Amino acid sequence: MRVGVPKEIKIHEYRVGLTPASVSELVARGHEVIVETKAGGGIDFDDQDYVDAGARIVATAKEVFDAAEMIVKVKEPQLHECAMLRPDHLLFTYLHLAADKPQAEALMKSGATCVAYETVTDSRGGLPLLRPMSEVAGRLSVQVGAHYLEKAQGGRGILLGGVPGVAPARVAILGGGVSGVNAAEMAVGLRADVTIYDISTTRLAEIDSMFEGRVKTAFSSKAAIAAAVARAHLVIGAVLIPGAAAPKLVTRDMLKTMKRGSVLVDIAIDQGGCFETSHATTHQDPVYEVDGVIHYCVANMPGAVARTSAFALNNATLPFVLKLAKHGVDALKQDPHLAAGLNVAGGFITYKAVADDLNLPF
Ligand code: NAD
Repeated sequence: MRVGVPKEIKIHEYRVGLTPASVSELVARGHEVIVETKAGGGIDFDDQDYVDAGARIVATAKEVFDAAEMIVKVKEPQLHECAMLRPDHLLFTYLHLAADKPQAEALMKSGATCVAYETVTDSRGGLPLLRPMSEVAGRLSVQVGAHYLEKAQGGRGILLGGVPGVAPARVAILGGGVSGVNAAEMAVGLRADVTIYDISTTRLAEIDSMFEGRVKTAFSSKAAIAAAVARAHLVIGAVLIPGAAAPKLVTRDMLKTMKRGSVLVDIAIDQGGCFETSHATTHQDPVYEVDGVIHYCVANMPGAVARTSAFALNNATLPFVLKLAKHGVDALKQDPHLAAGLNVAGGFITYKAVADDLNLPF
């Protein structure tokens, strides 16, 4: 198959659909890969790296779309990219269509077969192509939290791990899923005093045995969260109710009980955020203060570490890319987990929740 990789054009997106290593895997299996010039330039893959991996470099996105049968991207195609898609194209990328009617309609109009990373499933009921970005965001949340606790950043002037004779910072992690556990691993590694709150007792039991006592666990009741927030120096919001807006676990009133210069990192901001005072921020202007509490609410945290994120994403997507390249759309008939990723085909939305949310025909 001819596989195309255009340069990402969404603002401040530096990841790339295929790394040079992924290109070599495709080329080794007899596929042809066409890459737009400078597609990986933002994370230091130059055109020569792609040529060495066996790709052909072209000057424009249009040449990629014209030559390729399958397009592999990171972000949802922008409207003028949708206009380059044809009915015989297979598109494999993050789509997040439920929040984007113009894009959904443009993809329907293209007639292309569009498989969304975020709804591909695995045999344990997980979302394997969302997982790596939650891992990145979870680990990063502690790094940024530690940074904003520094005095010069407006923080309380606290070292996460303390020192001998001085207690470590108290870190409360709301939600013990993928991002929450990854946050806990980093916080414990820095010797902070960490508690994870979750509503799933099964999950709390798993976490308890996973960390062998190095992390405390607590059931996520209103009272427990109110008490945690008043004591914590760093609160990380990592909850998810699949398909729904994040619950507002920390209210405005609770914020008033927090210590000045403490930090909230709301990973769940892409689902509306789990602190009542959260609003989405960007890497250019990542934080703001309410009642003396620093809020970090960047909606695309993995973009800060685009190179790590591109490798992590490729590790997860590559097996599916290889299947799609080998079997084309028939891969969707053979693999129900890949089929779960099908969002648009033949001019229709094929994912019920997206069609319902957008009030479009299914
Ligand atoms: P996950 O499904 O692995 O974990 C969510 C956890 O939240 C589950 O264990 C669940 O039981 C728990 N939970 C649900 N309601 C709760 C409540 N009321 N109190 C406490 N816990 C509760 O989800 P994840 O992959 O860790 O993702 C978490 C959020 O982070 C999602 O909204 C995801 O989209 C987002 N995310 C954001 C970024 C970013 O850049 N900001 C990056 C990746 C993921």
